[in-house]
Amino acid sequence: MSQLNNILTIDVEESFHRNDLLLSTGQRELLGGRLVEQTERLVSLLKAYGQRGTFFVLGEVAKEYPQLVMRFVEEGFELGIHGYHHELVYEQEREEFRHQTRKAKALLEEMVGKEIVGFRAPSWSITERSLWALKILADVGFQYDSSILPARAYLGGIPWSNTRIHRREEAEIIEVPPSIIKIGRLRLPFSGGLYLRILPYSFIQFCIKKLNKKGIPAVIYLHPWELDPELPRLRLKWKGRFALYHNLNTVQAKVERLLREFSFAPIQEVLKDAGSFRGP
Ligand SMILES: [Zn+2]
Repeated sequence: MSQLNNILTIDVEESFHRNDLLLSTGQRELLGGRLVEQTERLVSLLKAYGQRGTFFVLGEVAKEYPQLVMRFVEEGFELGIHGYHHELVYEQEREEFRHQTRKAKALLEEMVGKEIVGFRAPSWSITERSLWALKILADVGFQYDSSILPARAYLGGIPWSNTRIHRREEAEIIEVPPSIIKIGRLRLPFSGGLYLRILPYSFIQFCIKKLNKKGIPAVIYLHPWELDPELPRLRLKWKGRFALYHNLNTVQAKVERLLREFSFAPIQEVLKDAGSFRGP
């Protein structure tokens, strides 16, 4: 197993939270109610391989399933905030964003009796037009953010952003971007979500090794529902079907290999080891 600690992040939400699907209440109900089971599957995998991750929890999920939040704490996983209602940052007014973020942070901190210092925006929605969010995040007490995908993505991303962990200029905050691989002038995301489902494991492994060889930790991201091949099938247009169901049956095996072949630690620990973090 490689010695360098990589980062495994999990955005704790239901499959119906995807911002690219406009689902009816009935459709949301069909997809919902599976989060505890889906998350438990992921927690068991991490435990089986003695690995720990960072769980970015949505405020409304914490409110409905407080037992999940306590489960993460019990296992020694790190908690972060994924917003309150999974709204795109650039579609929110600044004061609304401040209010929702603070509300989610206060709710989770109240539950666990500990300060939470990490944030991830839904759908990589801290983009060029919402960089103002970083200042608000620092103001409300976050020390790091993991919301800027340094590539072009469907709903977010900043294709020319720094690909390494770095301090931002806009605010007193550290940015922990999800990993991408540079192929010529192309920046290809490989490290999570649909990319992890589409790409063969050997390619993902190659990308992580390439980063680790340069001393760079890979930042992987997942959603609990992506390990649920039984996710109820909705009648959707092909794009929605692809985004929601493509290769769901391949994820567990890929995650197991990742956990077996690489070492993972919570974001706070990786930052502390790099000497760039004071901690909560
Ligand atoms: Zn999300």
